[in-house]
Amino acid sequence: APLPEAAALPKVRLPQGLLLLDGALVEPLDPARRIAVRDPSTGQTITTIPACTPADVDRAVAAAHRCFESDAWRSMRPLDRGRLLERLALLVEDHADELAALESLDSGKLIGITRAIDLQFTIDGLRYFAGWSSKTPGEYITLSPLVAEPAVYRAYTERRPVGVVAGITPWNFPIGQAIQKLAPAIAFGCTVVLKPSEETSLTTLRLGELILEAGFPAGAVNIVTGYGHDVGAALVEHPLVRKIAFTGSTATGQRILAATAKTMKRVTLELGGKSPTIVLADADLDRAIPGAAAAIFSNAGQICTAGSRLLVEAPVYDRVLEGVAEIAQTLRLGGAFDPATQVGPLISAGQRDRVAGIVEGGVAEGAVAVAGGATGAGEGWFYRPTVLAGLRPDMAVLREEIFGPVVCAVQVADPAELIPIANDTPFGLGASIWTRNLDRAHLLADRINAGTVWLNTHNVLDLAMPFGGNGLSGIGREFGSAAVHAFTEPRAVCMRL
Ligand code: NAD
Repeated sequence: APLPEAAALPKVRLPQGLLLLDGALVEPLDPARRIAVRDPSTGQTITTIPACTPADVDRAVAAAHRCFESDAWRSMRPLDRGRLLERLALLVEDHADELAALESLDSGKLIGITRAIDLQFTIDGLRYFAGWSSKTPGEYITLSPLVAEPAVYRAYTERRPVGVVAGITPWNFPIGQAIQKLAPAIAFGCTVVLKPSEETSLTTLRLGELILEAGFPAGAVNIVTGYGHDVGAALVEHPLVRKIAFTGSTATGQRILAATAKTMKRVTLELGGKSPTIVLADADLDRAIPGAAAAIFSNAGQICTAGSRLLVEAPVYDRVLEGVAEIAQTLRLGGAFDPATQVGPLISAGQRDRVAGIVEGGVAEGAVAVAGGATGAGEGWFYRPTVLAGLRPDMAVLREEIFGPVVCAVQVADPAELIPIANDTPFGLGASIWTRNLDRAHLLADRINAGTVWLNTHNVLDLAMPFGGNGLSGIGREFGSAAVHAFTEPRAVCMRL
């Protein structure tokens, strides 16, 4: 397709499309290998990005390793690593409007939300982890179980950076995810190679230009773009990469876990989910109904913790189902830059067709689409906010992560069934409980298999709160003090006086 006229594009500054390698913006070794970047709101081609090769990965990892081993990096004051992040935060802040527009163009995320949430998360994330750089904890240990003369020993632990970190990120929060990997890695003294999703690399490439401007030492942060099966896999297998910080699908996470067994890399895997929104009979429905709708329809359902199963106690089931269905029907579908849009497009035609296929499969098995159940009109990759009812526990639609604006409503007749139904999934990422009864809220929260349980809210993420999942939702936690463990390893030092 011909490129649209520049004037037809929203006012964005496209990145130069160069890789950040060893402190310079460079072409990949084979610059002819490209990936077309398309605007999900219109389906139009915007530009192309490099499809790197494993040879580019080698260059990036070698640079990150050189920097990690250098005296300059090892002896840099932790606060000065924090200052690098602060300088980048200022630059991102200065370019926030431009970065938000670029992100919305690339991903179809609504511009108002991208600016208010994604960019703020990015700026705050840089500042938050800048603060951690000077607070890497260690412990003094009193020996006694095995040594005969404890008084003549001194023992302590210190936390050492794991080494070169590969940050591999998905397409639903591109710039935020890049920072979620980069900022703690740098704060705790690691060096980084980032590989954004091939669907949404533009803001990470632009970030590379700002990282250069911020004056990071050569090799501290490197950026390669390309496909997961070659560039991602090359990072996962590279012997000099010591840790994979991955966010993405469970299938890819499983592949990464298997592949890292050989080199015993450390991993944090932030994967998929099938998170329940649980509405109890005594909930404040004026809050619970819009809350349940927002839990699934925000970001067109492309949130790992999306409340994709709506479990409702029988006395209020009909009201909640009707309320959420009414919201689904009235939400306005549209492009990322239209201020009236409430639900934007899905990331790709393939993802839209996948969502449509799962819903059609469910309907063929007897599910009823109370709202939606069809693609949206227009050139972009739209799918209508959808509410499914009449489900049986074994239906794929109720078991698989859909990653679209589709919620499965289930009536819970017996309160004793709530926990078995909520936990009837191999995932364990998020859950919300809507109730006025504090005792029930906490008793249920205690039994739910999820990394995060929200009470009377959903999808509130904070950089200070550990984030991650159980079961097929992943391994490890990021954010907050959990990041110390994710990016460092303890070293015990023991001395005899
Ligand atoms: P994906 O797994 O297809 O891709 C994620 C990243 O992995 C991309 O950069 C991709 O290129 C790369 N990749 C693919 N194959 C690889 C391989 N063999 N080796 C190394 N890297 C490889 O995921 P996606 O479709 O981009 O993102 C959607 C998924 O991400 C959903 O399942 C969602 O739930 C999950 N997600 C989880 C969280 C969380 O924190 N738990 C947050 C956001 C998204």
